[in-house]
Amino acid sequence: MCRHLGWLGAPRSVASLMLDPPYGLLVQSYAPRRQKHGLMNADGWGVGFFSPDTPEGAPPCRWRSAAPLWGDASFASVAPALRSGCVVGAVRSASIGMPIEPTASAPFTDGSWLLSHNGLVDRAVLPLSAHAESTVDSALLAALIFDRGMDLLGDTVSEVAARDPQARLNILAANGSELVATTWGDTLSVLRTGDGVVLASEPYDDDQGWEEIPDRHLVHTDGDAVHMTALKGPA
Ligand code: GLN
Repeated sequence: MCRHLGWLGAPRSVASLMLDPPYGLLVQSYAPRRQKHGLMNADGWGVGFFSPDTPEGAPPCRWRSAAPLWGDASFASVAPALRSGCVVGAVRSASIGMPIEPTASAPFTDGSWLLSHNGLVDRAVLPLSAHAESTVDSALLAALIFDRGMDLLGDTVSEVAARDPQARLNILAANGSELVATTWGDTLSVLRTGDGVVLASEPYDDDQGWEEIPDRHLVHTDGDAVHMTALKGPA
């Protein structure tokens, strides 16, 4: 299903993360290499980032769309000028029955965190939330994770998986100083670049440094050290 990417480290352009790499999110929108569910990611895209140019405590900047990333000439022209040390980007393959609208595209936010979901979860096991940005499963899941708190991300994922054993729950979230992710049913890789850390559903180039994260793990980085712990869950 969808593909996402997070960066935490030295400021760099959004284009250098999403559009320029040979197998970046732009190429993944029509030709992903490791996607197990869905063929392409044409149902929208989004990017969020923390900017030193917004007032202290302001919510992260976001740009989301329900159209394919490859057709967005305006974004392509502006993305080289958008620079940040903390970025979450995503391209979307809508699950069957889910709405296709800008508010259903990741990243979602509670004002402090940016969050993307790669996967599928039965909405019947998620609480209805007045804070959800859309009726898409990912927005309900984001609202639940925000309500529970990011410290409990691993527990929340394990609990949702227990309620929906078919669920796929790859989460990627960032708040400007931390980047966290889970693997639960879909792929995720990490690259340490020397000036930061990339977490991505699939490698955006053929750098030998990419490492695959095992399934059912929680990953945490401050842009330097990367910690991984196994998640609790049914066998
Ligand atoms: N289920 C979510 C949606 O419909 C995420 C889909 C995905 O990971 N492809 O948008």
